[in-house]
Amino acid sequence: MTQDPRLCGLCPKLCRFACPVAGGTADEGATPTAMLQAAEDARAGRIPWSEAAEALEKCTGCEACRAPCEFEQDVPSLLYTARAEAFAEGIAADGAQDLHSVHLEHGNPFGKDLHAALRAEAREDCDFDRKGRVLLWPGCRMLAERPEEAAAAMDLFREIGADHMSLPARSEVPCCGAPLQVVGDARGLEVAAASLQQYFNRQRTWVTPSSRCLLTVRNGYQAIEQDIRAEVLHVAEYMLFFKEALGDRGKAVMDGFEARDEPVPSIVVHDACGLHRRVGAGGAVYEVVDALTGVRPDSLDGYPDRTGCCGAGDFHDLRRPAAAVEVGDHSAKHRTLQAGTWIVTGDSDCVEALRRTHPDCRVEDVLGFAIAWSPEAPAAS
Ligand code: SF4
Ligand code: SF4
Repeated sequence: MTQDPRLCGLCPKLCRFACPVAGGTADEGATPTAMLQAAEDARAGRIPWSEAAEALEKCTGCEACRAPCEFEQDVPSLLYTARAEAFAEGIAADGAQDLHSVHLEHGNPFGKDLHAALRAEAREDCDFDRKGRVLLWPGCRMLAERPEEAAAAMDLFREIGADHMSLPARSEVPCCGAPLQVVGDARGLEVAAASLQQYFNRQRTWVTPSSRCLLTVRNGYQAIEQDIRAEVLHVAEYMLFFKEALGDRGKAVMDGFEARDEPVPSIVVHDACGLHRRVGAGGAVYEVVDALTGVRPDSLDGYPDRTGCCGAGDFHDLRRPAAAVEVGDHSAKHRTLQAGTWIVTGDSDCVEALRRTHPDCRVEDVLGFAIAWSPEAPAAS
């Protein structure tokens, strides 16, 4: 459900207090109401789209505003529509324009050769197995920030029995097109989806650690009639098919702690906005951690509806880097964690932002956690 921005005029606007961007940046122009009003004003000709474009950028897509909203407005989707209208007029905010230019040149918003990065880390003899019917789609951010994790994941999956998995072998597919949707380039998303649809549909299962990629391929492609027939899953959901093997791995790790007489570190789960609110698959992260440790972890922020926005959602950190830092700091400031605590996030896109705000903790996404929680690599190191 996307709903109608005009409903905001009938509302007491409790969303303002939920929004981590409005709270973190103390910017009244960043409230959901202000952003949606800017879009309405531009549509009505009261302000030019060039003026509205800056306001439309101030959202991480976290959906914290949805819980208090009586009208269930899907603010991120409403903003994608508004940005697409502005983009069609040739207008985007500076940060979005920069992201788009980099994407046009490099095929991803990070300006790196992501395919080369993956090839440098992965094993040519088995990680790109063309007979594999399960595709691990790392997402452009993981390939830009931690390509070694994508490669290490393949060893993990082979170990737990998921031996039909492969990494994307095609050189032209490092990015699903999500950044283009976010900045309003609707045509760009269509082209990206059209170029990937057949490739994805040759898979039995399509798996990603990125909630942003998951949302794009599961919902964004469908909205433009580029349906993906493969089963589309978050990596934690897929890992649960191998719960018993995860349990065996976890038991070996726990035995190691006992043998070394080392304390088991505290582990908490970051309820990543994209996975918990937008995709609704956050419970799988708890189950994976439970399988690997024998203990159901606590939530980093107390409960999943409370915003724990790291500031990086919807490539907000690339579009508005300074604001993203303020949002991440705002979310982190009330958290007190013992040094050495492990934070496991359900979204691979949140890892670097959380590492910045929690330098005394070990931060991994659920895939990175399963890799690191290894009998060969003692967890406390
Ligand atoms: S987004 Fe929802 S809560 Fe916020 S002003 Fe609009 S209708 Fe009200
Ligand atoms: S989705 Fe998140 S960042 Fe965007 S307006 Fe709602 S609460 Fe604010």
